[in-house]
Amino acid sequence: MTTRDLAIDLGTASIRVWGRGRGVILNQPSVTAVNVRSGAVLAMGHDAYTLADRSSGHIVVERPLRGGAVIDFGTTARMLEMVLKRCGATRRQRPKVLLCVPSTITHVERRAVEEAAHRAGAAHAYLMEQPMAAAIGAGLPVQEPVGSMIVDIGGGATEVAVLSLGGIVTSKAVKVGGFDIDTAIRDHVRDEYGLAIGERTAEELKMAIGAAYPQQEEPKAEIRGRELASGLPKSIVIAAEEVREAIDEQVTAILRAVLDTLADCPPELVQDVLANGIALVGGGALLQGLDARIAHESQVKVVIGPAPLDAVISGAGHTLEAFENLKHLIG
Ligand code: ADP
Ligand code: MG
Repeated sequence: MTTRDLAIDLGTASIRVWGRGRGVILNQPSVTAVNVRSGAVLAMGHDAYTLADRSSGHIVVERPLRGGAVIDFGTTARMLEMVLKRCGATRRQRPKVLLCVPSTITHVERRAVEEAAHRAGAAHAYLMEQPMAAAIGAGLPVQEPVGSMIVDIGGGATEVAVLSLGGIVTSKAVKVGGFDIDTAIRDHVRDEYGLAIGERTAEELKMAIGAAYPQQEEPKAEIRGRELASGLPKSIVIAAEEVREAIDEQVTAILRAVLDTLADCPPELVQDVLANGIALVGGGALLQGLDARIAHESQVKVVIGPAPLDAVISGAGHTLEAFENLKHLIG
């Protein structure tokens, strides 16, 4: 391993890269700009939005990883290629790459990601399971003979795992995450108010007043959209309680994954989880009241990890920095 080597968190919402000895060197939305006429992948990250916004409609933004699995191999490979190039990889200086992938990924998809990384310029690709990286990043004692529970809520998926002695004992992944919460808000506003709102407006509303559990204060927010009947701009005021009800199905699906994993977990390890609590990471961990809701329904203490959005990349980065000592945790 050398200073060229990289750890990559290939998230459904964001792609983050750690450079050995340097820390996080790239953090971009995991989107690409695709020319719909030629199929060419032109840009990734923020540049993709800029390009699409300036095009006459023939360049669109795509999420090749939506849903927590690699759904578009060709585009994923091109995106990785652009990422490696930005991080200084050249044909003569091919980095070793430690890639975090969802634990739900099939053998075929694993091979596809490895192949994509090679095609993108990696000399060697190691795959690391995301919950393992997340747990290390959250500071859980994954190598100890103690059960630790990690819940990682991303954009397109939620992964829950119990780890002990350097391995994943039980895990569960559901294709429900922050994107689905945004969609539920958009659907609600369309159905109740006949108002079309954009993805970003829905996400902003979620961050401003969205909650998974009743809060001390239940604020209201004004949102702007386009009235479906007239096509004209219109704004409405929406209450936190209403948003909470609109996203309940998605929040419940996340909660179910946690409860199911606890139910499948060997009893001795459940005792450890009861004693030490559940660690919540990923952007979805920041949804107001999600910790309280999970704690209430599972009767287990819930702790939001430090810098929850960076848990996976810091766990992978940590593993890269101490590769010889920690490589047994990959696999
Ligand atoms: P991924 O690992 O899939 O790339 P992230 O862990 O980066 O995803 O989380 C992205 C998700 O977290 C998005 O759906 C985003 O809306 C959500 N998110 C980020 N911050 C907040 C917040 N403060 N409140 C609620 N959701 C949030
Ligand atoms: Mg993630």
